[in-house]
Amino acid sequence: NEEILSVNNLHISFQTQTGAVKAVRGVNFKLNKGETLAIVGESGSGKSVTAKSIMRLLPKHNTLIPQGDITYEGRDLLKLSLSDMQKVRGSEISMVFQDPMTSLNPTMKIGKQIMEGLIKHQKMTKKEAKQRAFQMLKMVGIPNAEERLDGYPHQFSGGMRQRVVIAMALACNPKVLIADEPTTALDVTIQAQILRLMKDLQEKMDTAIVLITHDLGVVANMANRVAVMYAGEIVEQGTLDEIFYKPQHPYTLGLLHSMPNLNASRSEPLIPIPGSPPDLATLGTGCPFAARCPYTMKVCHDFHPETTQLGESHSVSCWLQDVRTPAEHVPEKVRS
Ligand code: SF4
Ligand code: MG
Repeated sequence: NEEILSVNNLHISFQTQTGAVKAVRGVNFKLNKGETLAIVGESGSGKSVTAKSIMRLLPKHNTLIPQGDITYEGRDLLKLSLSDMQKVRGSEISMVFQDPMTSLNPTMKIGKQIMEGLIKHQKMTKKEAKQRAFQMLKMVGIPNAEERLDGYPHQFSGGMRQRVVIAMALACNPKVLIADEPTTALDVTIQAQILRLMKDLQEKMDTAIVLITHDLGVVANMANRVAVMYAGEIVEQGTLDEIFYKPQHPYTLGLLHSMPNLNASRSEPLIPIPGSPPDLATLGTGCPFAARCPYTMKVCHDFHPETTQLGESHSVSCWLQDVRTPAEHVPEKVRS
């Protein structure tokens, strides 16, 4: 397991008119070569902010990163000059967004858009870039790829546009692909096709993927490892099996119980997690999940839980798993 990217003790705040919003609070994770790490959580949990920070795409005027580093192949991306960062974006780390039009220029031919980065960052000739663009469109399953190079984004369907964006993102053969809800806007059939495509390309090109999603079905299909985010923190992290079959954080349990397709064969009823995430501007000192957690103890309100390592790959931030919590405080349901 060779590590390619690591995010260490990352804190991100946004200045707003009413004060600082601490959107990401002490996030840690690693990405190994060729693997898929899913970051899962409700909207507003800090998933997209974390993803964008890796690409340095957060708005400059109101973003503060008071602590942490993002290390890619030994270099802290947060410390790179803008021009060095642009090189990283054009050839090492690529990003795909939920809405393909975020990445596409509506007034430029598809082929030209794919070629641009190749000419600029890969120093390809026009001819080489065109050949590569054609090859990529074919690879992502665009029919009549040669003609389609001359098409404009509006001439493609939503699913085809997302294929084009994936072609564009992978044309430079990046080592890391960050995909933020890449299939959320697509209907279910197309969604499955795009996920399949991403998986195939990942195998061919040995790309590591950070997959941001709120959909545990997508996670089950794609991920090797999973990080569960809540209120700007990773509350549990582990292999796919650890998260799905041995979840330890009450929030992870809640997410799993609220997933219809994963529960279809179970006898337990679907239970949505009651309540809503806390206001990040007024968060107290305790566990951020305390107001919604069915197991809250006094200590949870007073002190923030530390991260407990449950195994080599599995960790959780919850007082229930902390050895200092007296056994009699832990509900029987959790102990057994
Ligand atoms: Fe629930 Fe306490 Fe664990 Fe937070 S620390 S998830 S409130 S049991
Ligand atoms: Mg998001």
